[in-house]
Order: sequence, then structure tokens, then C-alpha cells
Amino acid sequence: MTIQLGIPVLRPAGNDNQGSAPISRPAGLPSKLLDRFGRQATDLRLSVTDKCNLRCTYCMPADGLQWLPKEAVMTAAEIQRIVGLGVERLGVRELRITGGEPLVRPDLVDIIAAVRERHQQLPISMTTNGVGLAQKAQALRDAGLTRINVSLDSLHEDTFTQLTRRPFLSKVLDGVDHARAAGLGPVKINAVLMRGINDHEAPALLEWALDRNVELRFIEQMPLDAQHGWTQREMITALEIRTLLSTDFVLERDRQLRDGAPAERFEVRRRNASAAEASGPVLGTVGIIASVSEPFCADCRRTRITAEGKIMSCLFSREEFDLLGLLRSGADDDELVRRWQDAMWAKPRAHGMDHAGLGTSEFVQPDRSMSAIGG
Ligand code: SAM
Ligand code: SF4
Repeated sequence: MTIQLGIPVLRPAGNDNQGSAPISRPAGLPSKLLDRFGRQATDLRLSVTDKCNLRCTYCMPADGLQWLPKEAVMTAAEIQRIVGLGVERLGVRELRITGGEPLVRPDLVDIIAAVRERHQQLPISMTTNGVGLAQKAQALRDAGLTRINVSLDSLHEDTFTQLTRRPFLSKVLDGVDHARAAGLGPVKINAVLMRGINDHEAPALLEWALDRNVELRFIEQMPLDAQHGWTQREMITALEIRTLLSTDFVLERDRQLRDGAPAERFEVRRRNASAAEASGPVLGTVGIIASVSEPFCADCRRTRITAEGKIMSCLFSREEFDLLGLLRSGADDDELVRRWQDAMWAKPRAHGMDHAGLGTSEFVQPDRSMSAIGG
């Protein structure tokens, strides 16, 4: 399906943006996850399931998706082997567990405990919708999970239910409290704003997060919904988010080095009604992930493995490399390492929605939804 984004894109020479021709990796490169544009992937996003117990409108259709058969999904042992290769052979320095919804996987705590046992120093984080987190937060912490991101788009029961198509707001709020109590800090909150639905809640969400000392991050809605309903007009841009927040707060760009982080961080002060500028102390920080309007592809450090063991070098890749199939065919570690390196070498320069001012405005949405990739 072709979407007219209205944001001009550059199609680089040599079809390196979303190339279809095989791209061969030169011999003699260091044993790392390098790509043709000088980036090194050190941050592994690994999906443990494609299933989910919510149906967020910007991610899944109301009826859900056709789930993968159990035998197609990586087993705990296969996950251990793949993470081990990433960390011990390929320079992975950080692991994020994601999904689908990772908490619906029954052996999640065991998976994390096994990774922790083998990789004592590895930061292990997880992104979750928070449903069921209250019951699992302490066990996850005890197993060795370092940090957690909880997705929460609205503080109003009706709006939450409209957005997720499930009435589970209180479960998520309870989950956030339990994650904090279990020491899974700093807890971060991911919020996607939808025009006319929850965009007016931006300042209230920030107020709520500041009160609890959790870091809120707004994520621009990306064209990664299964139903391909994304439109640029509906997307709330980073600029709009800053404007929405400015009614109550003054934001000042955090001067710390971004260091590959997707979120641009801002220090937050309260806006003094009588003065044009900020008053009082810094209350905390807020992050804005402007994947569409202010992309950060040039400094991307991510490599992704889907629940069925496919390597994706980019969220928007339309090429996948079957690592699990190779592993199950009896491949040795060297072959698996080579496959992973080859996949990353072919990583596109950019997702194709950037480079304003040049080229056409065509963007082809990948077939996979965010839930089937692992966001
Ligand atoms: N189910 C878990 C959750 O929702 O946190 C983990 C997987 S979910 C795919 C990871 C993150 O992707 C969530 O924060 C969610 O809000 C975000 N997400 C999903 N679809 C998105 C889209 N189309 N644009 C931007 N973010 C999206
Ligand atoms: Fe499920 Fe997360 Fe997608 Fe929502 S965003 S439907 S919780 S995978």
C-alpha cells in the first residue's frame, strides 16, 4: 500500500534506502553489527511474542491479528542462544524485551532470569502495556530485569478504553505503582497522542508523571498499524506536542549528549501564569520521540529480532532475515553470527520519511504492524 505522507523523501542512489538486491558485506570487517553507513547496532530489541491482550487503535485491528502458531515462536532456549551470540560475539550492550505484549508469555520471568544468569552486567529493560504487571513486577525485578517502560495514553477510563479497546486502565495504573515499588526504576511511560482523542491530555499526563517521578515520553504515531490507517494529518507532531505542553510548562532542551537515544529530552518547569517564562525549580524531564517529523536514523543503534526469530535492521524494513530458521536447521554459531551481520549490513540509510526538501513524497508502509515487529 502506498501512503502519501506529504513529507518529501530522498531515494538515495544505489537503492540503499529499501534495497531489494542482495548487499554483500566486505570480508575482514570487525565482528560487530555494522552497516554500510558507519553505524553499529549495540541495542537489541527482542520480541518474545506477537500476542497481545489490548487492541490499540494505532497498532492492531479490533479483531486482533492471526497469531503465530506456538511452534513458530522462539523457545526460551533459542532466545538464550540468540542473546548470547549478540552479547558475546557481536557487541550487543543492551537488551530490551518487547512484543506483542511480553507479559502474556508464561515463561517470561524464566527467560529474564536465564539471560541475567549468563550476562550479569547486561542492562535488560522491557516495554509493556502494564496489564498484569502488578502481579509480576517483583518477580521480574528479582529475575534481573533492570528497567521498565509502561505504555499509557490516557488517564480517563473512557478514552483509555476507546484507544485500547479494553477497559483496563486501573490495571495499568496499578502496574505502574507496583513497578515503582519493586525498584524497576526509572520507570518510563510511553504515550502516543491521537488527534481529537487524547491530545488534550498531554499536560495532564505530564503532571501525573511528574507527581510520581516517572519519566514520560511521547511517541509520534508511526505508520505501523496493521490496518494501514495512518495519515499524516492525524499524527500529532513533536512540534505540536511541545506546543500542547507549553500551556502549563516551559521546556528547555536537556544539554546532555543524546548518545543514540530516540527521545529528545527536555527539562520541565512550571509556567508562571503572570510571567511569560518559567518560574521555580526543574520538576523533572519529558522525552519526545519524533520518529516521523525529526528522524534520528543517522544515529540508530538498534537491531531487532521478531518473535519468530527474523532479524529486522529497521522498524520500517521490508526485508527480513530468518535467523531462527537457520538456527533450527543446525547452523553453528559462526553461521548465525554471519547471517546477523549480513542482515545489519543491509540496514537502510533511513526509514524513507526524512530528507525534507528532496525527491518525491512516496513512502511504502511495511506489511508488519508494530506488534508483529516489537517496538
Ligand atoms: N505491548 C507493549 C506495549 O504496548 O508497551 C510492547 C509492544 S508495543 C508495539 C511498544 C510500543 O510501541 C508501545 O509504547 C506502543 O505505544 C508503541 N506503538 C505501537 N504502535 C505504534 C505506532 N503506530 N506508532 C507509534 N508507536 C506505536
Ligand atoms: Fe498491544 Fe502494545 Fe500494540 Fe497496544 S501497542 S496493541 S499493547 S502490542
